[in-house]
Amino acid sequence: MTVLVTGGAGYIGSHMVLELLDAGEKVVVLDNLSTGFRWAVPAEVPFVQGDFGDEDLITETLARYGVTAIAHFAAKIVVPESVADPLGYYLNNTAKARSLIERAIEGGVQHFIFSSTAAVYGDPESNPVTEDESLKPVSPYGRSKLMVEWMLQDAAKAHGLRYAVLRYFNVAGADPKGRAGQSTANATHLIKVAVQAALGHRPGMEVFGTDYPTRDGSCLRDYIQVSDLAAAHMDALRYLRGGGDSITCNCGYARGYSVLEVIDVVKKVSGVDFPVTISGRRAGDPAAIVAGNDRIRAVLGWTPKYDDLDVIVRQALLWEQHLQKQRTAAASNA
Ligand code: UDP
Repeated sequence: MTVLVTGGAGYIGSHMVLELLDAGEKVVVLDNLSTGFRWAVPAEVPFVQGDFGDEDLITETLARYGVTAIAHFAAKIVVPESVADPLGYYLNNTAKARSLIERAIEGGVQHFIFSSTAAVYGDPESNPVTEDESLKPVSPYGRSKLMVEWMLQDAAKAHGLRYAVLRYFNVAGADPKGRAGQSTANATHLIKVAVQAALGHRPGMEVFGTDYPTRDGSCLRDYIQVSDLAAAHMDALRYLRGGGDSITCNCGYARGYSVLEVIDVVKKVSGVDFPVTISGRRAGDPAAIVAGNDRIRAVLGWTPKYDDLDVIVRQALLWEQHLQKQRTAAASNA
C-alpha cells in the first residue's frame, strides 16, 4: 500500500509527503528536480530522481515499492510561460501524463489523484464556480490539464482505475510546523512575490491590471492554504480506498480576495510598506475565479483549518525568512 508522489520535491507535493507520513502511510517520491529540491523530501522517504514520462523507470518503481496509489503533482504550472511555450506544456503536462496513466494501469495501481486546476474553467461567467460549470480554459496550461482529466475519465471507464481530480485554486502559505514551503527560485505567484518585496528580497512589485470588472479593478482569486490542500488529497485517498466512485472536486475556500487586498494584507502582516507599481494586464489572466466547495466538503468530508489570509501570509513570510537564512548559511559555508 505505497503511495507514489510525483513532484514530491516541489511545493505542493512536499506538503503531501508530510501529510502522508503524518498519517502513517508508506511513500515513495519521484521528481526530476527541475524545480523541486532534494532537501524538501524527508530523509526517510525513498527518493527516485527521474521523469514521470520515463516509462521503464515508472514500471520499475511501481513494482519495486508495491505502489497502489499515485498522487500526480509533477507539472509545469506557470500560465504566461504556457502561452509562450504551449508545446512544452502539452508534452510535459499532457503527453507524459498519458504515459504515466498507462503505466499505472499496467502496474495494477488502483487509485490516481490528479492535480488539476481552476484554469480549466477559464473566465467563468459567475462565481463561485461549481464543478459542473462549462470548461473553457483560456491558456495552454489550463488545456494541458483538462486533457488529462478527460484521459482519466475514459481510462477509468475502460480499465477500472478510480481517480480523484482536484482542481486547485490559488495555493499559498507553508507548513504550519515550518517543515516545508514555496521554495521555487523565481516564483511568480502573487503572495510569494509580495512577501519577497516586504522582506526586501526584491525592490518592489507590480500589479498586473486594475481595469478588470471587479470591486477594485484588480483580479480576484481564492487563496487556499497548502496544508489544507494536502489534507484534501488525503481525504480523497481515504474516499477512494473506501470504495468511492471517481470524483472531481474544486479545492478552495469559496471566497475571493483581489490582488490589491492581498498586497494590503502582506503590508499589514509584515509591517512594511513596499513599493507597488500598477502595470498592464498579464496574458491569460481571468478577471475573477472563486471555488464553489460544497462537493469536497460533503463528499470527501474536507474541513479546512487555515482559512485566514493573515495566517497564510504569516506562514509565507516565515518560510521566506527561513529560505533566506538557509541561503546565508550556504554562502558562509562555501
Ligand atoms: N499578480 C500580480 N503581480 C505579481 C504576481 C501576480 O499582480 O507579481 C496577479 C496576477 O496577474 C493574478 C493574481 O495576481 O491576477 C494571481 O496570480 P498568480 O500568478 O499568483 O496565480 P494564477 O492566478 O495566475 O494561478
